[in-house]
Amino acid sequence: MKILVTGGAGYIGSHTIIDILENTEHDVVSIDNFSNSDAKTFDRIEEITGKRVKNYELDLTAYSSLKERFFNVEGPIDGIIHFAALKAVGESVEKPVLYYHNNLNGLINLLKCCQKYDVKHFIFSSSCTVYGNAKTQPVTELTPVQPPESPYGYTKLVGENILKDFSATKIGFNALSLRYFNPVGAHPSGKHGELPKGRPNNLVPIVTQFASGWLDELNIFGDDYETRDGTAIRDYIHVSDIANAHVLALEKLAESEHELDYDVYNLGTGDGVTVLEVIKAFEKSTGISVAYTISDRRAGDVECIYANNSKANRQLGWNPKYGIADAMISAWQWQQLLNTKRGDTVHSE
Ligand code: UDP
Repeated sequence: MKILVTGGAGYIGSHTIIDILENTEHDVVSIDNFSNSDAKTFDRIEEITGKRVKNYELDLTAYSSLKERFFNVEGPIDGIIHFAALKAVGESVEKPVLYYHNNLNGLINLLKCCQKYDVKHFIFSSSCTVYGNAKTQPVTELTPVQPPESPYGYTKLVGENILKDFSATKIGFNALSLRYFNPVGAHPSGKHGELPKGRPNNLVPIVTQFASGWLDELNIFGDDYETRDGTAIRDYIHVSDIANAHVLALEKLAESEHELDYDVYNLGTGDGVTVLEVIKAFEKSTGISVAYTISDRRAGDVECIYANNSKANRQLGWNPKYGIADAMISAWQWQQLLNTKRGDTVHSE
């Protein structure tokens, strides 16, 4: 297959490209406008895989340039793995129009191109945020979706619906939405990982940057939840395992041809882990103590969510290989590499 990865310089997109190059014979090409990523990502992908990936620096919301500067130039594409999207929940509350414009118009333009250029298979980055504050845990794909808490969450839910409707038109197009739980960690080589622009929003990069002195404080948002240690529970899944699921999912679509129109899969480990347990796992894996502060709950956070992943396991043959300790070790190796390059790389503060 020839695969287009949008957002190929981003955290999960770049790990997916590495998985494709390391483990398959598929060709891959990327579109990324570097709005929250760095062109140097492709150097690191080349260092790890020995292969150079071509990237088109295009904005997916500009339909004519997407057509003319990508699809007319690249020729037939068999499948698209679509990561390119804005993803900061808090920012989406402040700038809802930006989020709806970027995430939904980008998706719609890609689907218009799928129709025009006969692209048959599509994998969509969705999120466990669509389950909201589910009463029963772990959540399965049959757990009802809830009205999202943020514009970001809505773009994921609406994106899923758009794909479901488009797949139902029976034009030979099929799609899978993958609902990520909490992606963490870095490539097992430690040579490539997450590089958010500005201050990170997620727990693990905050822990590694705090342990490196890049950040002044590490707050635990709430210790009064009804959980075993009072801190919130999430399902932390290694980014390389998430990446691998995309390749399996696309191959499943290609093999199934017209039998499968649309489906959704949870991508989590199946284990719920508290914030304090994440910090302890970091301390144990690295031997570094982190002096955290307990602060108020963060608005919009749910108490507990983790996945039942048996559908992905059964139907995609997906088995997460890495645990929380692997994620902490690789994230820390990657952070240490960033520390050595601090002068010439993008970082927080
Ligand atoms: N969290 C925290 N301190 C931080 C960042 C996150 O205590 O500095 C908590 C957050 O409240 C949540 C968990 O860590 O319970 C995971 O948060 P993250 O932002 O990584 O992912 P989310 O589950 O919100 O998508």
